[in-house]
Amino acid sequence: MQLDAKIPGGPIAEKWDRHLFELKLVNPANKRKYDVIVVGTGLAGGSASATLAELGYNVKSFCIQDSPRRAHSIAAQGGINAAKNYPNDGDSIWRLFYDTVKGGDFRAREANVYRLAQISNDIIDHCVAQGIPFARDYGGLLANRSFGGAQVSRTFYARGQTGQQLLLGAYSALSRQIADGNVQMFARREMLNLVVVNGQARGIVVRNLINGQIERHDAHAVVLCTGGYGNVFFLSTNAMASNVTAAFRAFKQGAWFANPCFTQIHPTCVPVHGTFQSKLTLMSESLRNDGRVWVPKSPGDKIPPTQIPEAERNYFLEEKYPSFGNLVPRDVASRNAKEQCDMGKGVGETRLAVYLDFADAIKRDSKAVIEKKYGNLFQMYEKITGEDPYETPMRIYPAVHYTMGGLWVDYNLMSTIEGLFVMGEANFSDHGANRLGASALMQGLADGYFIIPYTVGGYLAGTELADVTTDHGAFKESENDAQSRLSRLLAINGKRTVDDFHKELGLIMWNYCGMARNNEGLEKARNLIQQLRGEFWENVTVPGSGQDFNQSLERAGRVADYLEFGELMVLDALARQESCGGHFNEAYQTEAHEARRDDENFCYAAAWEHTGKETEPQVHKEPLIFENVELSQRSYK
Ligand SMILES: Cc1cc2nc3c(=O)[nH]c(=O)nc-3n(C[C@H](O)[C@H](O)[C@H](O)COP(=O)(O)OP(=O)(O)OC[C@H]3O[C@@H](n4cnc5c(N)ncnc54)[C@H](O)[C@@H]3O)c2cc1C
Repeated sequence: MQLDAKIPGGPIAEKWDRHLFELKLVNPANKRKYDVIVVGTGLAGGSASATLAELGYNVKSFCIQDSPRRAHSIAAQGGINAAKNYPNDGDSIWRLFYDTVKGGDFRAREANVYRLAQISNDIIDHCVAQGIPFARDYGGLLANRSFGGAQVSRTFYARGQTGQQLLLGAYSALSRQIADGNVQMFARREMLNLVVVNGQARGIVVRNLINGQIERHDAHAVVLCTGGYGNVFFLSTNAMASNVTAAFRAFKQGAWFANPCFTQIHPTCVPVHGTFQSKLTLMSESLRNDGRVWVPKSPGDKIPPTQIPEAERNYFLEEKYPSFGNLVPRDVASRNAKEQCDMGKGVGETRLAVYLDFADAIKRDSKAVIEKKYGNLFQMYEKITGEDPYETPMRIYPAVHYTMGGLWVDYNLMSTIEGLFVMGEANFSDHGANRLGASALMQGLADGYFIIPYTVGGYLAGTELADVTTDHGAFKESENDAQSRLSRLLAINGKRTVDDFHKELGLIMWNYCGMARNNEGLEKARNLIQQLRGEFWENVTVPGSGQDFNQSLERAGRVADYLEFGELMVLDALARQESCGGHFNEAYQTEAHEARRDDENFCYAAAWEHTGKETEPQVHKEPLIFENVELSQRSYK
């Protein structure tokens, strides 16, 4: 099969409008004849379900949590980007487009990114109309702050709880449709398999997490909005329930997986502090608007930070990148923090931390102003560390945060399986090799409110779909497959817990496929993962039964998928012999230790195809063509 991104012709600024006109429409009276399954109720899935139902489709919406509003999106802190240019500081759709392509180290598809920038402004209008309480300036206009990789302030926010407020907006719209009977809500369901009939996605098989029953659900199209897979590293800032299972099982059914090795390591997280930890906490990037990052100049300095004189401090980001300072993109900030710690200049007990200091900002703006902007984040930090960040600098270190890789999708957000659409963090689109801050919320809502309602319609109106119900043999086969996998997990009866395996896998991924990679380490990781996977299927213990609420069984299924998927990430990292964005192969760096791309050989999205149990996945390349932005070495100096 040839990869066809289906990018519309014409000038980049006109592609989306032109495409909207060319897409076939479903007559309003016919929409109710179509069922659409949406898996996931985060910002991408919640907005998609609400909008599709509002249009008249019958929507079946699924999530793991007990309520749609507990999706991981609720945790998003810092904000959402849009090119409104309210501060009048020079922003434009073109600049947001350019910053995003450059921020992603030129590994994203131009046409998608431009559309994202165009739609960004509609999202803000839509959310304001929903009543989202965005921060406002003294005159009542919406306020903006800055995020990494941009020299303008374009981030709209609701204190440090932007994701929560946006999700409540999407959830309200979804609830209205549930009440009207247009959305059937299936909470506490985990998708275990995608059902494909005649090459078209026609349903899913899920497990009811409360009573263990396996259920079949049919539809005319399936939309996956199942979030990112950062938890493959065990420790990450993602919610505990975030997983790769739905996307990975779709991969096994024929959806190709793009750029799986592109992982974002966020520079400002509370450092790891012990071996019993199961979660890492993000300190929003917005803090770098006012916080200054530094380390003591002398390695091993143990003097309390407030007593270290100015002359003995190294504000390494401000010094190395005078233009962007503390607001360089995440990949750049993370690598530099690691470099300082590798040189022995790390702080705190583990020496794997740098300072984020608000003393100057408090002196300049007052404690009250800083509290108003970041109060909840400071409180969170104090609760975790027992230290008051108004008095002493925060200690921060990079942590796994976001995954740019995901199922490959074309311009319509359709995967390589007809009728299977993928949105939000679960797809690979828009962010290239590094995502700029505040752009994931923008993408999820662009996909859900503004893109999928049209492209699903275009698909349904233009496709012949046979009558298929859950009695079809493909559903039976899919159910049997899911059931036998669960039975197999329960029958192993070994000695090691699921978490124990997950922790070991996470460490392998972090050490060899994390912030810095090299070929030797990646080869080693591949072997280690294969061995660990072998042991898992012989020695894992999964107590309880399949006919009941059983969280060990849920986790076992997800970790089993990670044990295969982790190897795909390593394969992808090995195949990409260059450095770009979050993929930093130590062999490819500039003299200033920045990522060195190889545009001649690697200017493509790598889409991996599952070719069977015993054979290696095969890579397909979607060339990335830059007609509007010139390929150049990224510089934030
Ligand atoms: C701590 C933190 C802070 C962040 N802050 C920001 C920010 O300020 N700005 C920004 O732009 N981005 C931010 N991000 C990133 C952003 O929050 C996410 O990328 C985004 O919310 C993902 O939304 P989503 O809808 O794609 O998926 P999610 O919100 O992760 O939702 C996934 C949904 O899929 C469901 N699901 C998953 N697997 C299955 C399955 N097998 N079966 C059934 N259902 C399933 C889940 O139940 C859930 O409903 C942050 C991320 C983190 C970790």
